Amino acid sequence: MTWRATVLTLFPEMFPGPLGVSLAGRALASGLWGLEARDIRDSATDRHRSVDDTPAGGGPGMVLRADVLAAAIDAVDAAADRPRLVMSPRGRPLTQARVAELAAGPGPLIVCGRFEGIDQRVIDARGLEEVSIGDYVLSGGEIAAMALIDACVRLLPGVMGKLESSTDESFSAGLLEYPQYTRPQTFEGRPIPEVLLSGDHGKVAAWRLGEAEALTRARRPDLWAARPAQTIRAKGESQ
Ligand code: SAM
Repeated sequence: MTWRATVLTLFPEMFPGPLGVSLAGRALASGLWGLEARDIRDSATDRHRSVDDTPAGGGPGMVLRADVLAAAIDAVDAAADRPRLVMSPRGRPLTQARVAELAAGPGPLIVCGRFEGIDQRVIDARGLEEVSIGDYVLSGGEIAAMALIDACVRLLPGVMGKLESSTDESFSAGLLEYPQYTRPQTFEGRPIPEVLLSGDHGKVAAWRLGEAEALTRARRPDLWAARPAQTIRAKGESQ
């Protein structure tokens, strides 16, 4: 079955947007994955098609109604066994490991919040997994959903050609990727590191691993502390 993302949004016209170009767009056009953007407003029941109301307990802004959103979710696939996500800055931060799991499944249903957020009762009642794409607040869940979908799609079989590869890239071994270089050989007085031009694959690999480790240690102590055991053993460290 083809991997498929179903997005519930108040702005279906935002899709496919950037997902319709380049790697993801070519794969979408050739049927390697599917995308469906559904308007939450189609599940509104009053004549004004209202989807939100004021927060219980007071405060600024509006909250997406539980009943409208539940109806929108149920209209998609009440019985289907797909991950159900809601994009939220309160969610568990998205990781490459979770992306790989989602890419290996049938494809998620993704709810995009707007306004102040979503009535908690629909999150609980429909078992939605809250997912964050970082510690900052976007104005809506659509761009967050696109980021998640893009990260999944590039891992689907047949999407990345031999010109692109996910084997060495950031997070694949719990490390950030080493720096990359290409022509010209010297740019504004800065040469490409000599080892990369040596043709010695062993030396190149060792240099890249050293750079990846130094970068990870300096920029992401959290990743460095949590790197996989085999990486640590390979370096003969006791930690
Ligand atoms: N009042 C909410 C809070 O403080 O947590 C923020 C609501 S935000 C303005 C509107 C919607 O944007 C959210 O419901 C969510 O769907 C989406 N959103 C904003 N930031 C996000 C993030 N970092 N990751 C994932 N989704 C995000």
